[in-house]
Amino acid sequence: MGVSLNGKAVAENLRNEIRKSIEVKKANGEKVPCMANILVGNDGGSLHYVNNQNKVCADLGIEVKSIYLDEKITEEEITKVICDLNNDNNINGIILQLPLPKHLDEAKITSLISFEKDIDGLNTVSVGKLYKGEKCFIPCTPRGIIELIKSTGEKIEGKHAVVIGRSNIVGKPVAQLLLNENATVTICHSRTDNLKEICSKADILVAAIGKPGFVTEEFVKENAIVIDVGTTAVNGKLAGDVCFDRVIEKASFVTPVPGGVGAMTTTMLLKNLCEGIE
Ligand code: NAP
Repeated sequence: MGVSLNGKAVAENLRNEIRKSIEVKKANGEKVPCMANILVGNDGGSLHYVNNQNKVCADLGIEVKSIYLDEKITEEEITKVICDLNNDNNINGIILQLPLPKHLDEAKITSLISFEKDIDGLNTVSVGKLYKGEKCFIPCTPRGIIELIKSTGEKIEGKHAVVIGRSNIVGKPVAQLLLNENATVTICHSRTDNLKEICSKADILVAAIGKPGFVTEEFVKENAIVIDVGTTAVNGKLAGDVCFDRVIEKASFVTPVPGGVGAMTTTMLLKNLCEGIE
């Protein structure tokens, strides 16, 4: 029987470290990091995320400037808001909540954020730098996944890691980060032949699919570390991609949903903000 890998506890430890580093900065009279979070329109999920970020920032002593924009804002207007924040020396990191209203081009607008302030690590320059091994902000969910794997105390180097999913926000960056940690990485997707067989050879299995309960014990090697990124609303509750109760019988560690990967996201964002990239 494996262990449930508690993202809340790992996140809490990281937050304590951040809190201490802020206290030291304050005691030394140094500037405290300041994040700008931008919300366009009234998306309920995004509003919840902004409120949560603001609560955690207040708890850790981090400054935050929330910018609420009308959902009818033009591309020209939002471009000006982002450029002003890029040029504002008081702002260390910018996060633009997605999704944006349909008339705005998400890829274009997110790439307006200067990479030095792109604490979400998702704009084109940040992604390019990540793949070239240059300094940049690491996207929050993939970074949280690596932190969770490291929290087990198991080595990543030399292990066979299989990632199911090849999205730009989870699958591809987490595969790149595992490669940077010297794992041997296989990326699987909806066209992969023999998926179950490939997964069952993984020492580390990351499921980022969005299909509740897709990964059963037959996909899992004895004593593997299994990271469940999936979050799908089912009957008002969040469901992961992994059949937790069955998989934990075979794996060494499994992340629960909720309370696993998702519990790390805001903390990783603020860790990015506080560390900077210089
Ligand atoms: P996505 O863009 O929809 O990508 C899903 C990936 O799964 C695609 O690459 C797809 O393959 C693959 N896939 C779909 N069906 C498959 C199948 N039957 N066999 C193998 N691969 C299959 O989703 P995403 O944005 O990466 O998110 C994935 C999940 O993670 C979602 O549930 C999302 O809500 C969740 N998520 C959670 C967090 C968090 O903080 N916990 C953060 C981000 C995302 P193709 O490329 O071939 O279509």
